[in-house]
Amino acid sequence: MKRRELLAGLGAGAVALAGCARETPRDGAVATVAAAKSSETFNWKMVTTWPPNFPGTGTSATELAETITRASSGRLTVRVFAAGELVPPFEVFNTVSAGAAEMGHGVSYYWKAQVEAAQFFGAIPFGMTPAESSAWLHFGGGMELWRELYEPFGVTVFTGGNTGTQMGGWFNREINSPEDLKGLKMRIPGLGGEVLQRAGGTPVMLPGGEIYTAMQTGSVDATEWVGPYNDVGFGLHEVADYYYYPGWQEPGAILEISINRQAWDALPEDLQDIVKSACGYVESRLGAEYNARNAQFLEQLRNEGRIEIRRFPDSVLDELRAHSREVIEELVARDEKAARIYASYTAFQQQVGEWLDIGERAAIVARR
Ligand code: CA
Repeated sequence: MKRRELLAGLGAGAVALAGCARETPRDGAVATVAAAKSSETFNWKMVTTWPPNFPGTGTSATELAETITRASSGRLTVRVFAAGELVPPFEVFNTVSAGAAEMGHGVSYYWKAQVEAAQFFGAIPFGMTPAESSAWLHFGGGMELWRELYEPFGVTVFTGGNTGTQMGGWFNREINSPEDLKGLKMRIPGLGGEVLQRAGGTPVMLPGGEIYTAMQTGSVDATEWVGPYNDVGFGLHEVADYYYYPGWQEPGAILEISINRQAWDALPEDLQDIVKSACGYVESRLGAEYNARNAQFLEQLRNEGRIEIRRFPDSVLDELRAHSREVIEELVARDEKAARIYASYTAFQQQVGEWLDIGERAAIVARR
């Protein structure tokens, strides 16, 4: 902590004095430090949980790396590795924690085995939408809680945006009542999977690349993935008859940009600022991309007319919501850190939801 403060102070001082030094070079030592800092170069590796250039999430990781490299004029170059190229996808967090890669790009619920409470920074069933969680992270104390949670692992974190409100998924049988969930074999990871299990279904965990074949061969009856943009990209509309909404299991999935703490502390302040700004840039672009592309691919699905797009009946959502509460309350009861985060999360969700209900939601309903 002391070393960091010292470096931060030195950095700010050096920048301020370097400005004067151009006119009145009175402090040679400071000018030398500033020059050494600006010429030092850093080469970082970014490991990701995404297939190479996967549309949206994967391309956003690439855009982040390129933005940092370009904005720093190559003083900090970031090279991206797709899932499996350097390490398997679910090893991203461990790799950044160990310092074998300086940077990671993924979703926090993939490392729930190491940090169970991290799931609040990924997606929570019946939890916050992208606009709500962004407000919580930046102005409701969410980022501070996230950084505190990762501190013991030597990792600092930024948000990389959100994949948008997801769809409930693809089904080859109608879901008319909670009874229809019983015996349903569905690809659905994380807390959503636990919820389905309590409703009588069988959750299956499959990486994205295996979903199409599992649906085609009937080894699963249903699957969720993301939304129209990524789902049509995988061809899921060819292997299912019904596309249900809303995405109760992931009302929004927050992307995580993790950075090894020592690598972060070693950067001069101006390069840290470039990294921060680049994270903010890709964050805002990703949300826009998912809304634009999801809308475009939804229209395509409607025009093709082969599949039926349906809303889950209220009775099904009521059942799933009740089980979600149980699952989350049990998680919170066994993990003190999760309890603190949950308290912040739920209080914020309640407050921001009240606003968005008479704000955005009412405005959308009113124009119909
Ligand atoms: Ca999903």
